[in-house]
Amino acid sequence: MTTSFLCRTCGETHEGLPTDYAWKLPDEVWAIPEPDRAQQARWDADCCQLGERCFIRCVLRIPFQSRTGSYGWGIWVEVSERDFYRYVELYSEDARSEPPIDGIVANGIPCHDGSLGLAVSVQFGTAQHRPTVIASPDGGHSLAIEQKQGMSNERYHEVLVATGAIR
Ligand SMILES: [Zn+2]
Repeated sequence: MTTSFLCRTCGETHEGLPTDYAWKLPDEVWAIPEPDRAQQARWDADCCQLGERCFIRCVLRIPFQSRTGSYGWGIWVEVSERDFYRYVELYSEDARSEPPIDGIVANGIPCHDGSLGLAVSVQFGTAQHRPTVIASPDGGHSLAIEQKQGMSNERYHEVLVATGAIR
C-alpha cells in the first residue's frame, strides 16, 4: 500500500508521514505543573484519574477521502466513574458488544475548534484495540462532519502542519 500523494496545497509529494497523533494526557492534567502532577493525578497509557474525574485513552478515526485507511486522533475522553471501572473490568476482553457510553473530549484537537469539551460517544473495542470515539452529528461539529465525509488531501496537509509533521 502506498501512502504517498502529490499534495496540491504545497506541491510536495508527502510520503511516509504520520497517520495518527496522540496525547500523553488529558489537556487539564498536562497543564498541571510537572512537580505537582503525580500528586494530583494518576495515569498510565490508557487510564487517567484526576481526583474523582476519570479519563480513558481512545482513538477518533477520520477516514481518508482519496486513499485507504484513516487518520487516528489519539485523544483522552472524560467518562463517568461507573463507565471508567467498566472499561477497566473489560480491559483484557473483547468488549465490542457493550453499548456505547457518553464522554467529553479532553484534548484540544488541532484544525477542529471547539473539540475540547465536545460531547461524544465511545465504543469499547477488543483487548488489542483502544475504544473508538464517535462524534455525534447533532450540532454539526467539524469532527462529526469530517468523520462522516472523510479527510481530503488538503485537510491532511493542514493536519500535518498543525501537528508539526511538516512545516
Ligand atoms: Zn502538502
